[in-house]
Amino acid sequence: MKKFISILLIFISLFSFSRTNKYAKLIENVSLDSLRNYEYKLAGGEFSGRQVNTSTGLLSSNYISNCFKNNGLNAVLENGKSYSQKFNITNNQQISFENTAQNIIGVLPGKNQKLGHLVITAHHDHMGIVDNEILYGADDNGSGISALIEVSRILSDYSRQGIRPKRTIVFLSTDAEEKRLLGSDFYVNNPVLPIQNVFCNVNFDMIGRIDSTHLVSKNLNNYIYCIFRDTTNQVLNDYYLNKLNNKYTQLILDERYEKEAESKVPYSLITRSDHYPFMRKGIPSIWFFSGFHNDYHQTTDTPDKICYPELKKRVQFVLALIWDLANN
Ligand SMILES: [Zn+2]
Repeated sequence: MKKFISILLIFISLFSFSRTNKYAKLIENVSLDSLRNYEYKLAGGEFSGRQVNTSTGLLSSNYISNCFKNNGLNAVLENGKSYSQKFNITNNQQISFENTAQNIIGVLPGKNQKLGHLVITAHHDHMGIVDNEILYGADDNGSGISALIEVSRILSDYSRQGIRPKRTIVFLSTDAEEKRLLGSDFYVNNPVLPIQNVFCNVNFDMIGRIDSTHLVSKNLNNYIYCIFRDTTNQVLNDYYLNKLNNKYTQLILDERYEKEAESKVPYSLITRSDHYPFMRKGIPSIWFFSGFHNDYHQTTDTPDKICYPELKKRVQFVLALIWDLANN
């Protein structure tokens, strides 16, 4: 019996070692150079701050659509021909502009279509040109879109090698977030897969900088804010997030905003990014964020100021989480 138990223990530890190894291998694929290339493209002069309803805003969404296509994500709109989900926006004078905004959507089919799917979000629009100056939006939200494209690249590569997640993953790059979440609001009411089947929403918005709270000490740079809600408590919780993080990335998971988000202040932080329309539908949702800084919504939010090693580490953690959720 003793012998049987020790053999069993060896098997269990070998199994957990190979599982740990698999995750470590997966997140090794996150490339600092790729993230930097996407950032410089998205927050460069060509897209002039990616404002919705402008020609350069359209160019930036076409760029994301091409990235999804090159990575091998499926197009599911217009009978499988398009990645673009067009919708109308209304300006301050309540004048409606038809088809002027577009979410970009690519799908990675999972092995088991019966399981609920994941929706990974980040917004691509920013503020455009204000008083003849470009607001580049490198952190807000070039950083989140770079992460979205990078995760889609790695998981598509894996799928091509036959390593496919159990659950389907929808990659959703939203438009008009800066106009109070219009793109994600439109999506939850016009989803490409039934909204009641969303297992979890993971949102990236501003994950590329070190905020003033953490700048004081180099030892604190290795952090990410996690702001989440899960009324089921079955998908997202502190214990689960910390377990994954301790195993694979050892970031500081900072939940200061998680606590603040409980306040009833109008427009409190938790309502201010694309996870919120999903949360309102009762879907377990989590927002990754690296905090505010002096360049927020300024012309100085440029790609040279992004902290690439920290960005990479954050993307590695979220990739491990997405992979775990998608195989859960
Ligand atoms: Zn943003």
